[in-house]
Amino acid sequence: MKEDLLLVMPTTVKCPNCNKSVEWKKENQYRPFCSERCKLIDFGAWANEEHSIPGQPDFDDAMSDELDQPGR
Ligand SMILES: [Zn+2]
Repeated sequence: MKEDLLLVMPTTVKCPNCNKSVEWKKENQYRPFCSERCKLIDFGAWANEEHSIPGQPDFDDAMSDELDQPGR
């Protein structure tokens, strides 16, 4: 019964950025995003995360130096 509906309905996905329903079709070059804007925003988001991942080895070195000194 419900399977008939699925055949008629166009395939839709949710925009990863704003959760808006987007028709999955060849004409939509920004899929699965609803628009170029959302695509660029999402791309920028994970690009920023990449930049925040690098650790701080200098900080570790400073800690070791302090521990080495027999201050007490
Ligand atoms: Zn969107």
